Amino acid sequence: MSKTKKPKFGELSPLYKFSLNPYPDQRFSRCPFCEHKTGQRKVPLFIHIDPKYPIALNYTCRYCKQCDSLIAHKHEIEHLLTTMFKQLDPGVIGNEYLIIGTVEKKTWRENMQHPKESTEMRSQIHDFKTVHAEIRMTQGGWYGPDQKPKVRKPPQSSEWIK
Ligand SMILES: [Zn+2]
Repeated sequence: MSKTKKPKFGELSPLYKFSLNPYPDQRFSRCPFCEHKTGQRKVPLFIHIDPKYPIALNYTCRYCKQCDSLIAHKHEIEHLLTTMFKQLDPGVIGNEYLIIGTVEKKTWRENMQHPKESTEMRSQIHDFKTVHAEIRMTQGGWYGPDQKPKVRKPPQSSEWIK
């Protein structure tokens, strides 16, 4: 049996299952995967923004202890990125981005004072164990036995756009 290995970015052991919540009105005080109560966890998220910006963003996620899931709110992440890139490089706003994992807290703090090369950063990054695609919710209401619940369409990004 051959196992295909997922390409890994960070060199540290993977942590957390990650998903992105695209609904601004959903706070997920209960986990959408296992229904347990969620708490909060502040972690430096490692985000790659096209074409070449690696960013560490300290951000408070929803966290479910039960199934080890981190949930980040897409509109909040995009708001923070937009604010950051207005200063840094406004042309980048609206580019594709990928949230890859978390950065070691200690390194993140050091990096604030003395920015490191991204090759050096790799040794300080935990990839996520799994990345769910964006969360999708079904619309409420009653459905007959042959009907599939309709998926609630999340709103478009309002800030992180070209
Ligand atoms: Zn859970």
